[in-house]
Amino acid sequence: MDRKKFLKRGLLGGLAAVFAAKWYNAQADNTETTEKNLSTDRGVEGVFAPTNRHMVGNGFKVMNFYPGGKGFEDRMSPFFLLDFNAEVNFPPSDISQGVGVHPHRGIETVTFAYKGSIEHHDSKGNHGIIGPGDIQWMTAGGGVLHKEYHEQTFNRSGGAFEMIQLWINLPKKHKMTPAKYQSIVHQDKPRIELKDNAGDVYVVAGEYKGTQGIASTFSPIHMYDIHLNEGGVADFEVPAHFNSGMLLVDGQVEVNGQSVPENHYVQLINEPGDIVIKANRKSTLLFLSGEPLNEPYVSYGPFVMNTEEEIRQAINDYNAGKFGFLAD
Ligand code: MN
Repeated sequence: MDRKKFLKRGLLGGLAAVFAAKWYNAQADNTETTEKNLSTDRGVEGVFAPTNRHMVGNGFKVMNFYPGGKGFEDRMSPFFLLDFNAEVNFPPSDISQGVGVHPHRGIETVTFAYKGSIEHHDSKGNHGIIGPGDIQWMTAGGGVLHKEYHEQTFNRSGGAFEMIQLWINLPKKHKMTPAKYQSIVHQDKPRIELKDNAGDVYVVAGEYKGTQGIASTFSPIHMYDIHLNEGGVADFEVPAHFNSGMLLVDGQVEVNGQSVPENHYVQLINEPGDIVIKANRKSTLLFLSGEPLNEPYVSYGPFVMNTEEEIRQAINDYNAGKFGFLAD
């Protein structure tokens, strides 16, 4: 156990450790190496291997990191579900591949395309096609129907397919907000070019060192699409009490000294400190950080509400056709 970890875990306690580390820094040679080794890095809670994959509809072959996969449950609130379709090759097909019409209430569904192309329709009349680097951000709010398929041309030709679907739980006061849709294309994402040709950070939501993200959110969130070149380093901080983690979509990195293989998920401890991501080869990550909602929740299939009564209401409203209409 190195000095930093000993101080963190030892009897001195967390706060004392921070002061001790700062004091030690002040006494040490003022070289960058010394500073780097002794500065307080945010701890890594765990590096989680991919789960078994399962099909969602006939078009998405996903590993689920939460809430089911690792027993995280509400550990990443407000982020509720993380499904990752790691790169897989779909053969050419004449049959539509995806998920047919289904409802959502109480959440936002955010789909990130890395490879291949996805088409979306919803009962509010929104329609979008996303390709590599693009994001579709659907706020289900009080209720919407949607369907998600491989885009038709891609479906017919087949090829490499890689995507993420994230569900973000809505705060109680925004559960029934009107449904809306944000289409975010890659070139519109605010980009920070990292120094020393390390790579780029695209700010999807929240802010990164003063640059504001493009998406609007209902609770405080920082979300970054990070692309690092071989040897590149990204170094940043987010608030200590924000639940924070990242998925390594492609590549191989070290996060605060911990080795992270491709398709693994890194959960960070809720404590202050730098997050230092070093790419051992060209790498792509999705970084997520959000203020916990700290509200009770009940989930049932595509609905995430605060009480069982609200779930029953969602089912009744859906059966009564109150989510609108969308053709198959
Ligand atoms: Mn859906």
